[in-house]
Amino acid sequence: MQITGAVLEEIGRSRPYAESAPVSVTRLELAEPGPTEVRVRIEAAGVCHSDLSVLDGNRVRPVPMLLGHEAAGRVEAVGAEVSDLDVGRRVVMTFLPRCGECDGCRTGGRLPCGPGSAANNEGRLLHGSRRLTRGGETVHHHLGVSGFATHAVVDRASLVPVDDDVPAEVAAVLGCAVLTGGGALLNAVRAEPGESVMVVGLGGVGMAALLAAVAQGTGEVIAVDTLPEKLELARELGASRACTPAEVAGQGLRASHTIECAGNPRALETAFAATAPGGRTVTVGLPGPTALARLSPLTMTAEARTVIGSYLGSAVPARDIPEFARWWREGRLPVERLISRRIRLDEINEAMDELADGKAVRQVIVFDE
Ligand code: NAP
Ligand code: ZN
Repeated sequence: MQITGAVLEEIGRSRPYAESAPVSVTRLELAEPGPTEVRVRIEAAGVCHSDLSVLDGNRVRPVPMLLGHEAAGRVEAVGAEVSDLDVGRRVVMTFLPRCGECDGCRTGGRLPCGPGSAANNEGRLLHGSRRLTRGGETVHHHLGVSGFATHAVVDRASLVPVDDDVPAEVAAVLGCAVLTGGGALLNAVRAEPGESVMVVGLGGVGMAALLAAVAQGTGEVIAVDTLPEKLELARELGASRACTPAEVAGQGLRASHTIECAGNPRALETAFAATAPGGRTVTVGLPGPTALARLSPLTMTAEARTVIGSYLGSAVPARDIPEFARWWREGRLPVERLISRRIRLDEINEAMDELADGKAVRQVIVFDE
């Protein structure tokens, strides 16, 4: 069928993106779903820093690529082997399909899926296929989702069903920001009652980690970012304290555990330096492949500290997304508060500028029926 989607044509074009237009909104052909695949009509899609990282070359991926990996929609057609999803069901799309059988999948979320990661690196779906073409030319999938489009074909393993009471834009944000930030908080930080948590970097992912920490209610929650507007929002969302990295260093602030959600090695240094003895520093950000951070080995040893990387929130999406949806339903996780702006698909280049400038938490593309 014919669809409309936002295709990244070339990596590394100059800013402002509103002028250089690295992403074009074009017509494409979407093939029918294969046996394990599902066609989804997209209702909402969030713009994440990991989309920007493909555009600016920090994450090297094949182009042309139809971007977008944080999305939700309704099932429109299913492949012959998909028996557990009805047409019309609302689904959250997640950015790493889990095959469920590899060594990574057997760790209960701690490690990414091997075949899923390989597919993502090559811009294809879990079982090898590419379903997108434009005038005969292959267009690559982004993280198995390619959600900046009216429709997507994805593997069943990229989908988690949610009930209709979860609005599409909330469902979209559950798929990346909440699963990544909230999942890392639950599965990697694992704070005990009374323990404090510091979140460094307050974009969609960091704000979601903050919401999850407040919802969990173990102890003090400290929010850190360079921008005053983000600190203000963090206070409104329940942070007991919100400050800049300079204030953390100047005041010698510490928390039982810290979580870095900025994608900047300086933020990891801040998080590490602020972790209490015996604590965990969890790193979620994805800086460029050559970025290095300076951490003190002596401190790590003498204070018995742990540094943990967390991809996909160290989560099992089929287990954790329904749990976060339940928290949302109970009013404990106000995911709507992360949405700073609703936009149209053809505003995508401007949205990338806003994100690069740090002006947005989550911008969500809303699609008409
Ligand atoms: P974002 O919206 O760009 O937010 C990052 C925030 O960190 C911004 O507010 C930024 O402020 C702030 N920041 C930058 N340097 C800082 C520093 N030294 N100290 C404190 N704060 C600092 O990004 P996002 O969409 O939330 O994503 C966050 C990171 O997670 C990205 O690297 C993304 O690629 C990664 N990610 C990882 C996974 C995973 O599975 N591990 C999944 C999704 C996303 P400024 O705007 O002023 O720089
Ligand atoms: Zn993301």
